[in-house]
Amino acid sequence: MQPYVFTASSCKSSVRRKTHQYYIYAYPGCRCLEHGRIMVAAHNLSNDSLEKIASEVIGCRLCKLSRSRKNAVPGDGQASAKVIFIGEAPGKNEDETGRPFVGIAGRILDGVLRKVGIERSDVFITNIVKCRPPGNRVPGDDERAACRAYLDRQISLIAPRIICILGATAYSSILGGKSIIENRGKIIKRNGQKYLITIHPAATIYNRNLLHVLEDDLSILSREIKKMENLDRNSLLDYVGD
Ligand code: SF4
Repeated sequence: MQPYVFTASSCKSSVRRKTHQYYIYAYPGCRCLEHGRIMVAAHNLSNDSLEKIASEVIGCRLCKLSRSRKNAVPGDGQASAKVIFIGEAPGKNEDETGRPFVGIAGRILDGVLRKVGIERSDVFITNIVKCRPPGNRVPGDDERAACRAYLDRQISLIAPRIICILGATAYSSILGGKSIIENRGKIIKRNGQKYLITIHPAATIYNRNLLHVLEDDLSILSREIKKMENLDRNSLLDYVGD
C-alpha cells in the first residue's frame, strides 16, 4: 500500500466505522485528516492478504446479496498480477463454483487474452460486487458501496500496473464514467493509477461484432504492459549495464 498523504481538504463523505473495519477504502479519493487516520490504523492493523480478503468475502453478510448467493466469488489470480480485470458481478456459473469468469463470458475473455498475448498468470480477475445479484440484475448502489472495501483492498495489495475495466457498471462504479462506447479503448490515469476501459465480454455473446472491439482494446492493454515492462528494463539497465 502506498503511504497516505494527509491534507486538510474538506471531506464530502461520512465514515461508517461500525459497518466495516475497512469501509474507509470506499472513499479512495478522500484526503481528509479523519479518513487518513483511520486508513493508517486499518493498514497497521491489517497484515492484509488476498487469502484473508477471500475468507472475509466468503463469510460476508454486509448486503442483501448474501441472502440469495450460493457462493461468494472473491476473485482469482496472484498478488503479483500486473493487471486487475474488474467486471460487474458473478453470474450463474460463478455463483455455482465460487470462481470469477468461468461461464461463456469468461471463456471469451480467456480466448481474447490468449490471442493478444496476455498470460493468465499476469492477471487478477474480480468484480465490483462479489455475490450474484438475483436474475443477474445490475447491482444496486448500496450493494456496490458495501462491497467496495474488498475491491479497494485487493487493488492496494496487488498494486497493479494497470486496471482493466470491463463494462459500464465497473466504469461508473470506479471512475464515475457514463458512456462505455465513447470511452472504450482509452487509457486514462486517475490518482496515479492507470486504467484501460473496455466492454464487458458478456456483450460479445449477443453481438459478435463486439468481439473485435474487445480484441482491439485488449491489444492496446497488451502493448501498454509491454511498454511498461520495457521502461522498467531500461531503467534497470541504467544501473546494472547491458
Ligand atoms: S456482495 Fe459484497 S458486500 Fe454484499 S454480501 Fe457479498 S461480499 Fe458482502
